[in-house]
Amino acid sequence: MPAGAPEPVRAVSIGLALLKAARVRSWDGLVDTLRTDGQSAARLDGIDLTLDDLDLLDRHLGLLGLIRVVPGTRGTGYTVTVAVCDACGQWLLSTGAVPRRCRLTSGCPGAVVKAVPAKHPKPAA
Ligand SMILES: [Zn+2]
Repeated sequence: MPAGAPEPVRAVSIGLALLKAARVRSWDGLVDTLRTDGQSAARLDGIDLTLDDLDLLDRHLGLLGLIRVVPGTRGTGYTVTVAVCDACGQWLLSTGAVPRRCRLTSGCPGAVVKAVPAKHPKPAA
């Protein structure tokens, strides 16, 4: 993810990483799982979220409710992510490649940035 990516992209990026780490498909699933399943909560222990990160997630809960990480083999799995225009701020959901040039707003010169799961530093062994 490029530095200075739009804020919703950063939020979704962290969100996708959390879904993957907890092995759940959706944000609702994550919330449920954390409430009831100690093992999934333990899998998230290695992920350090700063207060700023939590704040960011909080501001974009609407988008986080739309993302999905669906597991599968041989290409049956997919990720529903969010792509945001860095100029007009319009966004779209995507399961694949996203055109780089903004087509969300007519004549917009912006570039569309897709959120990919954030990489978290491995906890020190
Ligand atoms: Zn745009």
